[in-house]
Amino acid sequence: MRQLCSSLVLSLAILGALPRSASAQVAKPKPFDAANLDTTCAACKDFFQYSNGGWLKNNPIPPAYSSWGAFTELDERNRATLHTILDAAATKVATAAAGSNARRLGVFYATCMDSTRAESDKASPLADELARINAMQTPADIQAQIARLHEAGVGVLFRFNSDQDLKNSAQVIAWMDQGGLGLPDRDYYTKTDSASLKLKKAYQDHITRTFKLLGDPPTVAEVEAQRIVAMETALANASKTRVERRDPKTLDNKMTVAEIKTATPAFDWGAYFAARKVGAIADLNVGSPGFLKAVDSLSAKTTILDWRSYLRWHLVNGSSPWLSTAFVNENFRFQQALTGAKELFPRWRRCLDATDGQLGEALGQAYVEKTFTPAAKARALAMVNNMVSVLNGRLAGLEWMSPATRTAAVAKLTAFARKIGYPDKWRDYSALELQQGPFILNVLAAERFDHQRDLAKIGKPVDRTEWGMTPPTVNAYYNASMNEIVFPAGILQPPFFDPAADDAINYGGMGAVIGHEMTHGFDDQGRQFDAKGNLKDWWQADDAAKYTAQADKVVAQFNSYVIDVDSLHVNGKLTLGENIADLGGLKIAYAAMQKGMAGKPRPAKIDGFTPEQRFFLAWAQIWGQNITPQNQMVRINTDPHSPGRWRANGRVSHMPEFAQAFGCKPGDPTVRGDAVRATLW
Ligand SMILES: [Zn+2]
Repeated sequence: MRQLCSSLVLSLAILGALPRSASAQVAKPKPFDAANLDTTCAACKDFFQYSNGGWLKNNPIPPAYSSWGAFTELDERNRATLHTILDAAATKVATAAAGSNARRLGVFYATCMDSTRAESDKASPLADELARINAMQTPADIQAQIARLHEAGVGVLFRFNSDQDLKNSAQVIAWMDQGGLGLPDRDYYTKTDSASLKLKKAYQDHITRTFKLLGDPPTVAEVEAQRIVAMETALANASKTRVERRDPKTLDNKMTVAEIKTATPAFDWGAYFAARKVGAIADLNVGSPGFLKAVDSLSAKTTILDWRSYLRWHLVNGSSPWLSTAFVNENFRFQQALTGAKELFPRWRRCLDATDGQLGEALGQAYVEKTFTPAAKARALAMVNNMVSVLNGRLAGLEWMSPATRTAAVAKLTAFARKIGYPDKWRDYSALELQQGPFILNVLAAERFDHQRDLAKIGKPVDRTEWGMTPPTVNAYYNASMNEIVFPAGILQPPFFDPAADDAINYGGMGAVIGHEMTHGFDDQGRQFDAKGNLKDWWQADDAAKYTAQADKVVAQFNSYVIDVDSLHVNGKLTLGENIADLGGLKIAYAAMQKGMAGKPRPAKIDGFTPEQRFFLAWAQIWGQNITPQNQMVRINTDPHSPGRWRANGRVSHMPEFAQAFGCKPGDPTVRGDAVRATLW
């Protein structure tokens, strides 16, 4: 149900959208383990295989997962901590102080774990909402119901939320954007290849079966499903592609309320804004102006019966994971088509995910108290500051960049806000009222709380202390509008960051992650924002042209990579920003490692490898993962990050330092010639 944040937030990897760990116990890894290698494969031929082949062979995907690798292993260890916290909170509900976060966590998790109640309730907790939908008669009723569902986080027809003004990043304004789909991307509705058609059909059958569970006659359910897919296809056709949306200029369309009313005469925006309690707003940003036509045309032409089906479907679809087993299983059956997972996660695990999703900062506060010391925070901050100073030095030496652009680039880098571990100011959940069940009503209450909190920001100055990820998350991000780099406590752990490891391992892991997020400030998207986070061109034309010529080499490189599933190609344009971030991040981390070694006796080999070799091995090993074909396919279509194999191999091939470390020769697959090697940072 939850949309984390705008497309201008650039993360390290996508994990949250897919189911996570089951019950495997994962021990803390050694800083480096030679058993993970496949020395039968030459490092210069396929560095990903060389670095991870042993691990890949010995670590098949557990049945409940759709992928398994360094990220999921760490995620698993973090989750063991969260599990302990939540079990304790659930047993102490009666004694926890009224209104405390401890009590809130306990009630939320315990009501989620109440499978007996979920079973006997079936879909009845939704009866009131479903009755409202069935009682709709007029266009005004429909639009009131859309507003009501939006309040509860149900993503029908379009998205409406608050975000920063692209050109005045100090100010929060209202945003309206494309949405309303049940499949992961608009392309699934528009593409005509066999895999896309198969998934669209599976989705339609899933809708039919869910309606049958609600008691609809089979023939009626089938017709309802067809009409819903037709409505969503109309929305998909009017939606921009992910590649189009990567250019922030295409998202920058401020419209007055009068203009949006003219574009959509069939939709009563005044009533909608009143229902969402946003007060008097004069203008808003429309991410996808072409989408307004679809909103208007569906508002004008769709029959009341079809609206009832569509709204009912989205309410039940989002709620199914928390209803009785029949709904849970039907939901999982369709999820399997997207993920390839073989088993449903145990209930505690699903409830843990839900708690992280809805009460993430309450849970995260308890998590950092157990896991993240002030000393660890200080050490991580020192590493970040060191990396910033290394990039600063590199900017000074870039031959292709003019002094004017360089000055602006340095100003932007110096202005990076650095957030480490957890927020300085925790979210206040005191307005969130939870009940003793049924659980789905607590989920809807938490969604309402969150959306009210979000819309209350419209018209106010930006709160720069907010975080877009929860503290236990194994990920990191750069937010272009905030000009900030953010590293949750969850990723500041082995194998990314290990106080017991040598510097080479930490720079190849966490150092490259930090460099990655920093480089996002200067990737093809991030470079369009200035030091304050405003969408503003600070580049000299000649420098921008030189930049684009190098970026085009990266696009061509990744377009040429094919994955095993159906010979699908990586999308070089979709993944460009992440690829540039990886490339820059690895170079900066390498330079930081060299700076640390300068003027000191050369470190001895460890496990038979030089520091340079260990640096690149650490990098390749964080991308080691096994993945189901289904998950890989969805990611190729939707994920701006390239597959792990190409993150590992694609980056090192640009670095002569890699070829030197492993003795690779021109012509080897991991060595790119000068003409096709990108040189940016
Ligand atoms: Zn990234």
